[in-house]
Order: sequence, then structure tokens, then C-alpha cells
Amino acid sequence: MTSITIYDGSNTIGGNKIYLEESGEGIFLDFGMNFKKYEHYFKDFLTWRTSRGIYDLISLNLIPKLNIYRPDIIPSDLNMASFPSLNVNAILLSHAHLDHFGNIGLLKKEFPIVASPTTIILLKGILDISRGKLGSDVAYFSPRFTKRDGRIVKTDKNKLISRNFISVDNFSESVAEFLSICVKRNKQLEKGTIQNLDKLTSCFEIKGYDVDHSIFGATGYLISGDTTLAYTGDFRLHGKKGEMSKTFINKAKEASILIIEGTRAAREDINESEETVYENCLEAVEESKGLMIADFTSRNLERLETFQSIAKKTGRNLIITAKEAYLLNALKKVDGMDRASDIFVYDELKTTKPYWESRVLSEEIDFNYVDSLDISKTPDNYIVCFSLFDLKNLLDVKPVGGTYLYSSSEAFEEESEFDFIRLNNWLSNFGFNILGFEVIEEDGKLKPQFTRGYHASGHASKSDLIKTIETIDPDIIIPVHTDNPSWFNENFDNVMVLKDGETFTK
Ligand SMILES: [Zn+2]
Repeated sequence: MTSITIYDGSNTIGGNKIYLEESGEGIFLDFGMNFKKYEHYFKDFLTWRTSRGIYDLISLNLIPKLNIYRPDIIPSDLNMASFPSLNVNAILLSHAHLDHFGNIGLLKKEFPIVASPTTIILLKGILDISRGKLGSDVAYFSPRFTKRDGRIVKTDKNKLISRNFISVDNFSESVAEFLSICVKRNKQLEKGTIQNLDKLTSCFEIKGYDVDHSIFGATGYLISGDTTLAYTGDFRLHGKKGEMSKTFINKAKEASILIIEGTRAAREDINESEETVYENCLEAVEESKGLMIADFTSRNLERLETFQSIAKKTGRNLIITAKEAYLLNALKKVDGMDRASDIFVYDELKTTKPYWESRVLSEEIDFNYVDSLDISKTPDNYIVCFSLFDLKNLLDVKPVGGTYLYSSSEAFEEESEFDFIRLNNWLSNFGFNILGFEVIEEDGKLKPQFTRGYHASGHASKSDLIKTIETIDPDIIIPVHTDNPSWFNENFDNVMVLKDGETFTK
């Protein structure tokens, strides 16, 4: 008998925490951060107090009340023994987006993380270049110790502890080596292990398959025990690597239970593909004069490749930030592919370069840095990959006009709409021609309106969700990662909509 409990992420987009249990053993499918829940209480500078470990997160119900968290982040005034504890053989991670991995860093270190080699590398790479807040510090973390009467947990500044990984595919020696490199100055990294899937002890038989999503390394899982279950993670069919998703879907035919994402179940279907994105963006670059800015999510490395081809075709040089360059270099450890050879790196005006940039990056590759003054001289020579957070650099580049191209997801929430007004202010200040969105006035309020064709979603459309379910033809469909689970009920008979905390047993 298998029981499935959705601890989080059943009727919201992101924050998946799905627990499977059989004869007292269990696994988690993702353990992500639920942004929606967090935003009830926190935003920008109003954040939870990491000095109190998981106290704020537990007290505000932002993470499940379970006895599965790292003992060093439990302050003395939290009685974890009153919460149920679970046996966890492993956490199966679908991909390196925060809404899927952002709470894994809180979990006991003994739980190994199963993921694709690319996801493992991205988890480490992303952490290396960020500050790594408690929870998203998955690849390694600073242990804490309690202070005062035990209510305060303080970081041990000298030490980092790596987690143990299990790779769903064969991995190269360079992957293991990359995990053991410490890029935080003056800290000791206690190494973890990385092993192949056959080393995992579990009553479940687990197989991971590559699926296509807006980040490299996404995995769909097939899990067999008393029953066979398929978990899609986040996926799409209309991307360049849509065939990978289709292979997984064919394998998933043997599953009787399907846990499927439904991000776009509440959104209209549009005609889209990475091919069209390439063609539309290429045309935009060909027709524009002056500096070109391309804006897409920094982890969307496939889109970066699209702009790399566009730059080549239009005779411009592509400039990325050092952080993205670091990730591209990290990915080389997985497949040996040199993705950064013809790319330039923006040389930001800052007092010191972080250790990962000054040592690790520059020792490994000879990057061509571009200074703001060089861009000012010949702006027509470049496509700069900047997002809102990088636009302050324009104050140094001082462009006189140019074209900005928004090639990322539309804003679906009022909260994020405000960012576009700010973005618009920055671009207007430099006289940029804006493609991909415009700010309009509606009922006396400013809001962004998006032009389609410059972006293809990372998620399956409604018609592709239907196609997927019809192909797999499971006995039970459990929707997750959606704000419209009832869409599944309207289209299929065998849907089991679970609320957070509910269990289904088969
Ligand atoms: Zn995702």
C-alpha cells in the first residue's frame, strides 16, 4: 500500500512538498519554498529572522509541522517532539528552481538529494554566487549553534557542511570535484558524497528522466513500489527539447498514479515555441540600432543560447553578467560543452570581486571582460543581457537610446506588476525603445501589458496537459503546482484533488 500526502503546493503554483510512504519508508518529491505563503507576511526587507532558526517559519505555518528539520536550526522554545516524524530515504528534486528546492536546506542532513547531474551542479553553482539564505543553502550550509538560553541560533562562520547527492545519471569526475570546491573565503568545507542511484537504499525503485523546462536539468520521476507513480515536476512539450518530455511521458504509461503540474490550467493557450522566440527576437535585433538589451531570467540558459545565436547572426557581441558566466562554466563539468567561448562578461564597477569570480572563474577561463566605457563607444556592437537588477549599470554605460527586449514570463500578480513600472522608468530615462511590454493606464492605474512572441513558457499548455494525461492514461490523476485544480476535474473523471496535508492511499 502506498500513501501520498501533499504537505504543500497542492493548490498554489510552487512550494511542492509531496511525501510517498510505503511500509514505513518514504521519500519526498521536491521540498520547495511556497512564495505565496511567505508573501502573506514577508516581502523585500521584511524577512524572517534566521537568528531564530526555523521558529518563524514553523510559527507562521510556512513549512509543514513535522519533525524532519536540521537539529542545529531548532531553537530551544520549539518543541519538535510534538510533531510527527517521517522516515525519509531521499528527497527527489525535479529541478533547480527555488519553488522546488528552496526549503531543502532546512531538512536533516542525513536525507540524500536525488537529482540530475545538471541540477546538482546548478544547486552548487547558484549557491556559490549568492548569499544562500537559510533553506535555499542546499548544496552546503553553515552549521549553527545555540546561544543565550537556546532561543538564538548563531552561524558557525568558519565551517560549511556539504550535503550528500545521488545522481539519476552517470556523472563525470569533474562534477564531484566541483562539489568539493569551496568558494567562500576562509571557510572549511566538509565534503559530502555523490553516488549513483543504485546506491540508494529504499523500498521504492526510482528512475529519473530528462524533461524540458525553462531551466536545464529538469527531471520527471517514475517511482515503483506497491504501485507505480509518475511525477512530472515542471515540464513542457513546446520547447527545443520537447522530445525529452515525450520520452518520459511514454515511459510513464506504466504508472497508475500521475502527479502532474498544472501551472497553466488557469491560463489561455497560445501558439508558442522556442523557434518562434528565436525568429521574433532575431528580427527585433536586426531592425534595431544602438545598444540592445535582452532581458530573460538569469537561470534560463536555453534562452541565453538563443541570444548567443542571434548575436552571432547579427554580428554583435553578447555580454552577460559574471554570475551567468560562472553558471555556464559550471555546466561544462557535466557535459564538457564549452558554452562561454564567444561570450563577453560585463565588468561591473565594484570595489572587490567576489572570490568565485576573482579566483575560481578567472583561473579556469580566460574571459573577455567589457567595460562600460567600451560599450559607450560602440553600442551597436553589443547585446547586453541585463534584467531590472542590472539596469543600474546603465548609469555608467550612458546609452543614448537603444532597444530593450523583454523575453521572459508575463506578470500574473499585481505585486510583480509594479516591477514593470519601475523597469519602464529606468528604460525611459535612457530613451530606450521597449519591446515585449508597455505600461498602460487602466482605471487610473498604471500596469504592464505584454506583447507575445518574444517568450515561450516553461510550462505545458492546457492542450499539452490533456495530451500528456491521455497518453499516460493513469488510474488516478493528482494535480499539483496549480491555482486551478478544478480544471483537471472538469476535463477528467479520475482526478483526486488533495488539499495541503491530505493523504491518499492506494
Ligand atoms: Zn520551475
